[in-house]
Amino acid sequence: MIIDGKIVAQELRSKLKLQVQELKAKHNITPGLTVVLVGDDPASHVYVRNKIKQTTEVGMISNEIRLAEKTTEEELIELLHGLNNDDDVHGILVQLPLPKHINEQAIITSIIPEKDVDGFHAMNSGHLLNGDAEALVPCTPQGCVILAKKHLGNDLSGKHAVIVGRSNIVGKPVSLLFLQENCTVTVAHSRSTDLPALCRQADILVAAVGRPLMIKADWVKPGATVIDVGINHIEDEQGKDKLVGDVDFAEVSKVASGITPVPGGVGPMTIACLLKNTLRAAKQHL
Ligand code: NAD
Repeated sequence: MIIDGKIVAQELRSKLKLQVQELKAKHNITPGLTVVLVGDDPASHVYVRNKIKQTTEVGMISNEIRLAEKTTEEELIELLHGLNNDDDVHGILVQLPLPKHINEQAIITSIIPEKDVDGFHAMNSGHLLNGDAEALVPCTPQGCVILAKKHLGNDLSGKHAVIVGRSNIVGKPVSLLFLQENCTVTVAHSRSTDLPALCRQADILVAAVGRPLMIKADWVKPGATVIDVGINHIEDEQGKDKLVGDVDFAEVSKVASGITPVPGGVGPMTIACLLKNTLRAAKQHL
């Protein structure tokens, strides 16, 4: 069965839209998201356009600030301080990657944790580690858990989740989320030995690696749920650009009981969860 991220994301956005209307009606507050884009990275421009469009569609206020490639770290931090103090801005997102002369960590730390809707600030990572309710949780990992639950139901207790990848933005936070769901969690990475054998133990297999089609059918336990986070560009037989995940969808879909496609799986959930975080930030501000 294909776990369709587009449908699940649409369902989530519809719920959020109603909650935004309710917040407006009861408290006269409209959640506001400001996205800051530095430089001319074409992929970032596409991501930001999608974020803005979907923010507006659920009834939130969306604001985009575009800055030149040559913007200094100090200038960006000064702008963020202004946004931190602006009561109409509930969520701030600085689109990554940033130009090389800007230290990403310094920028992430300059956003106050209450408005850090990407969930990358060390304070939010700490809250997530502690299982605190106030954590703003990174969006892609949230999307992975929602998709796993869509297929398996809300109770994931006792399931063995194997996460391949240990990055700060996906692998580590998604491991903590599955642990909170009472899963047994294994985190595999580039130095793990016998990765296929580790993956075969998984009831829920999350691939967040960035290696096209790495996970093959004989790495997957029959009936497992497979969540593919990878976004990789390869050339198809005609030499055209093709988007694929970390999982060899054609063969793994014959073994798994549920699998997310690429595109149309985890990707759409990431933006929907960004909107969820923005609504949360607005409610917490209230
Ligand atoms: P990253 O490069 O920061 O981390 C990759 C991880 O994979 C590392 O922890 C590394 O140890 C592990 N790894 C690398 N080679 C390996 C191997 N051969 N065997 C086992 N583990 C290996 O990447 P990331 O930022 O976590 O992103 C991972 C993938 O997810 C990328 O393709 C990225 O584009 C995609 N992504 C998608 C979304 C989305 O919204 N769908 C969001 C974020 C990232």
